[in-house]
Amino acid sequence: MVRKMRKRADFLPFCRPCLGSEEREAALEVLASDWLTTGPQVEAFERAFAGYVSSANAIAVSSCTAGLHLALAALDIGPGDEVVVPTMTFCASANVVFHVGATPVLVDVGEDLNLDVDRLEQAVTPRTKAIIAVHYAGQPCDLDAVYSIASRHALAVVEDAAHAVGAEYKGKKIGSDKLSAAHPDITRVTAFSFYATKNMTTAEGGMVVLANDALADRVRMLALHGLSRDAWKRYAESGSWNYDVVAAGFKYNMTDLQAAVGIAQLKKLDGMQRARSTHVAAYDTAFASLPVIKPLPRKSGVTHANHLYVVRLSLADLSIDRAEFVNRLRQFNIGSSVHFIPLHLHSFYKDKLGEDLGRFPEADRLFEEIVSLPLFSCMSDADREDVISATAEILEDFATT
Ligand SMILES: *Cc1c(COP(=O)(O)O)cnc(C)c1O
Repeated sequence: MVRKMRKRADFLPFCRPCLGSEEREAALEVLASDWLTTGPQVEAFERAFAGYVSSANAIAVSSCTAGLHLALAALDIGPGDEVVVPTMTFCASANVVFHVGATPVLVDVGEDLNLDVDRLEQAVTPRTKAIIAVHYAGQPCDLDAVYSIASRHALAVVEDAAHAVGAEYKGKKIGSDKLSAAHPDITRVTAFSFYATKNMTTAEGGMVVLANDALADRVRMLALHGLSRDAWKRYAESGSWNYDVVAAGFKYNMTDLQAAVGIAQLKKLDGMQRARSTHVAAYDTAFASLPVIKPLPRKSGVTHANHLYVVRLSLADLSIDRAEFVNRLRQFNIGSSVHFIPLHLHSFYKDKLGEDLGRFPEADRLFEEIVSLPLFSCMSDADREDVISATAEILEDFATT
């Protein structure tokens, strides 16, 4: 018998950024300085982040989307090329493929909602140039298999690590140059997101990390109008007015204001990740005894970044659907979300790619059942217990078995 929970006095959002006086002071210092945009703070943030993930190069950019776009552009992927993308992701992962004029080829996912590596290999054609590997919810996808497939078919691997800052695969951080040590032939680029809802934030922002120095120079050049860095160095003595444009680049640089916040967030990241795992462990324990809800499967050998806490509702044993579950949570003043509406169900991809229901049976089936419950590092234990009580009560009220 579940104790009846009363509606919360305040709304608990499914996510909230966790910032403190450190971030505020760092931002104010930049505002009081003469240098607001890309400068010493960006350089320091890049150095700290490269060290954190163990990568030779880190390039701070305006968003993860920008980073993914730059990766494809720097890899010279364009018209006539195909890029494999899992269907269970945010639209940014596939939109960037259109931005460079290439074609995304969607693939289905497995039970953990990460891309299904068997289907991934079946999707490879002679036109395939790259794989966009998403680490869904912060759980690394099957990287050994992804790298092997990339190696066998001479493909680049672009990792969408928007959810995966802090995640590890076999003891190495996502983004580490050493992850693909067994496949020195493949080119890898990883993009992180510092959007307001992600595990660490700069309001908007992203970081591109990669081992290859020449490709990193190209990413840097393309991120700032296609200005040649060499030109800056070569003509430094002749004055800062001199530059050379070597490509039609983009305006994807990060500002010092954002980077200062990022440095403060990175210092707190390990602690914030620990808070996330504590909440997740408590959710897992509480939900283990509820037959009508289950967390997504977790792999061994990985450290989950716990970006999202996604549960599956056993709809066959409930008299309500997911939409009604979300409504009921809302009546307790608790927010939730759904990650994601599979790409193949959106009009644009249906129209452009001729995709539809039925071609991605796992994504179609799992999509109906998933809900992301509130999870953020500064969530209180009381907040978490409210989510548990409300969830238990709703499921008890509507269980048919
Ligand atoms: C948030 C997100 C992005 C985009 O990140 P931005 O920094 O907002 O551009 C890309 N991919 C996935 C899976 C995301 O969740």
